[in-house]
Amino acid sequence: MPAQTHLFLCLKDNYGVLLHDPGQGTTAAIDAPEAAPIEAALKATGWRLTDILVTHHHADHTQGIAELKQKHRCRVVAPHGEAAKIPLVDETVREGDKVRVGSLEGRVLETPGHTAGHISYVFPADKLAFVGDTLFSIGCGRVIEGTPEMMWQSLLKLRALPDDTRIYCGHEYTQANVRFAKTIEPANAVLGARAQEVDKLVAAHKPTIPSTMGAEKAANPFLRADVAEVAKSVGLSGQPAWKVFAEIRERKNRS
Ligand SMILES: [Zn+2]
Repeated sequence: MPAQTHLFLCLKDNYGVLLHDPGQGTTAAIDAPEAAPIEAALKATGWRLTDILVTHHHADHTQGIAELKQKHRCRVVAPHGEAAKIPLVDETVREGDKVRVGSLEGRVLETPGHTAGHISYVFPADKLAFVGDTLFSIGCGRVIEGTPEMMWQSLLKLRALPDDTRIYCGHEYTQANVRFAKTIEPANAVLGARAQEVDKLVAAHKPTIPSTMGAEKAANPFLRADVAEVAKSVGLSGQPAWKVFAEIRERKNRS
């Protein structure tokens, strides 16, 4: 049976998401920003929490773990490079490892840059990717612990996923991201269409997530650092893509 997902806001602008296997009745929370909204989501869906899949160690992705684990005795899966900074980890995973949620089969992609050990979880049969704070819709995470070159490689790894992969990210930042992206590619028609769609969704208090990889590839400037027009737009024609990426990221930091 295909996976089911349930998306909801936590804290100020974090997303919580539940991944459910209707066949075996298992449910994973992707990250645990805050226990109460996750409990509310479990109640609303009637699903039982069996797993927490952690993308990285930041508090706004992990501070709900202790309370949830105490109540549900769920398994906590975390990136091997950050397990020491994450509470109550049962299993550590690294690049290529398989992660099962009931009969749903995911695999781990190491996507460092935002943090040094950040991972993403991809469920190919269900065409789902949970990318934490590596990739946002029309944006990407700040490069805090890694280098721009490392972050660019992580984004390339995600960009190689099939176009119809649904992308779940850690934050609702899309409207601000779109505003910034238009300064890089003002003539990008796909970006223009996404801007209108996002404005409508935000006005209706609806999430702009999930996006798809195909949509991101066409409009997200951080995935387009190797497109000639994008390099030209930031005055770096002919430069390596990671340098173009670094310049776009630097501009976004200052915006
Ligand atoms: Zn983070």
